[in-house]
Amino acid sequence: MTEMILGLPVDQITYAAILDDVPKFLASKQKMSIISVNPQIALEAKKYPAIIQLIENSTHRIPDGIGIVLVSKITGGKIKERVAGFDLMVELLEYANKTQKKCFFYGAKPEVLNDAIKNIQNDYPNLIVAGSIDGYTKMTNHEIVAQMNAVQPDFVFVALGFPRQELWLAENMTNVNGSIFQDVGGSFDVLSG
Ligand code: UDP
Repeated sequence: MTEMILGLPVDQITYAAILDDVPKFLASKQKMSIISVNPQIALEAKKYPAIIQLIENSTHRIPDGIGIVLVSKITGGKIKERVAGFDLMVELLEYANKTQKKCFFYGAKPEVLNDAIKNIQNDYPNLIVAGSIDGYTKMTNHEIVAQMNAVQPDFVFVALGFPRQELWLAENMTNVNGSIFQDVGGSFDVLSG
C-alpha cells in the first residue's frame, strides 16, 4: 500500500517485505527501483520534475527518516516504521553475499569508493564486485552505462547524494541492463570507515 507524504508517494513497507521481493525481481525482467523519501527530498523534489516522476514510477519508495513516519502519523497514515536506506543496503549486500550476486558501485570520492569496496569484499567474500565508478568521474553517462552493461549487474548502488543520484537514475536506469537499483546517499562513506 502507498500513501502520499508531502505530495509524494511513499510505500507502507518493511525491510522483510522488500527482501521478499528481491528474488522475485531478480527472476523477472522488471527492474526494482528502491528510492529513499525523506522530508528534505519531499520538499526539494518539487524543483525537479524528473525526480518526482522517478519516485512515482519506482517500485519501492522507502520511508527513509523518522520525519516521514511522523508526518504519516499526523495525517492518519499507516507508516509505522522507518526503513533506512543504509540499513537496507547492508541487508541487500548480505543477500548478494549469500547468493553470489553481482554488485556495481557508482559514486563517492575515489579513495572512499576504494576503501568501501575493500571493506565490502572483506565482509561479504561471496558477493561479486562486478564494477565501480567514482562519483567525480569525467566519463559520460553513455560510458558509465556501457561499463555497467558489460557486466549486467544484479544490484546497482548509486551514491551521488541528492539530487544527483535521483537525476542520474531518472535519466539512465532504463538503459542499464541491471535488476535492482538503489540510491544510497552517503552510504559508501559509512562503509569506507
Ligand atoms: N557525491 C558524488 N558526486 C558528486 C556529489 C556527491 O559522488 O558530484 C557523493 C559524495 O562524495 C558522498 C555522497 O555523494 O559520498 C553523498 O553526498 P552528500 O553527503 O553531499 O549527500 P547527501 O547524503 O546529503 O544526500
